[in-house]
Amino acid sequence: MKKEKQQLIIPFIGLNEGIHQFEFEIDSTFFEQFDYSIIKNADFVIKVDFEKKKTLFKVFLYLEGSIVMNCDRCLDAMTTKVKGEEKLIIKFGETSFNETDEIKVISPAEYELDLANEVYEYIHLLLPSKVEHEKIEDCNAKMIEQLEKLTTKQESTELDPRWAALSKFKDKSE
Ligand SMILES: [Zn+2]
Repeated sequence: MKKEKQQLIIPFIGLNEGIHQFEFEIDSTFFEQFDYSIIKNADFVIKVDFEKKKTLFKVFLYLEGSIVMNCDRCLDAMTTKVKGEEKLIIKFGETSFNETDEIKVISPAEYELDLANEVYEYIHLLLPSKVEHEKIEDCNAKMIEQLEKLTTKQESTELDPRWAALSKFKDKSE
């Protein structure tokens, strides 16, 4: 059975002017909606302060959650906690010409705001550039040993031609 699509929709048409709060929860189902997502397994709570004004909307997002990533050292899956804030201004217009990272333009015919793409992007900005177990003792020791063996093997293969040349030289001198 296909899991239900997770949406982050703010139905602004029925809202009065002022600040409204929304809360969304997303998990791996959310990331499955995007092809080639580098995030497969994550849980997030997204709190939104949505301010409706006459001509524009101000959106503040608070993102907090955990992502399963692979340790750079031992490659074991591990959970990393991240959080962050983003803000977005929604304006109305017929073209997205004036859009920037902080300004999104939607058609005056719209009656709801879908924040899925923005949230997907914001979560990627929160990804740490390096992920590893806090202490090396927490790493998968067996895996590190295997990886080290592999690296040493590669190095010795690279050295091979030189060793071969040396041994040829040695043969001649004898
Ligand atoms: Zn590790």
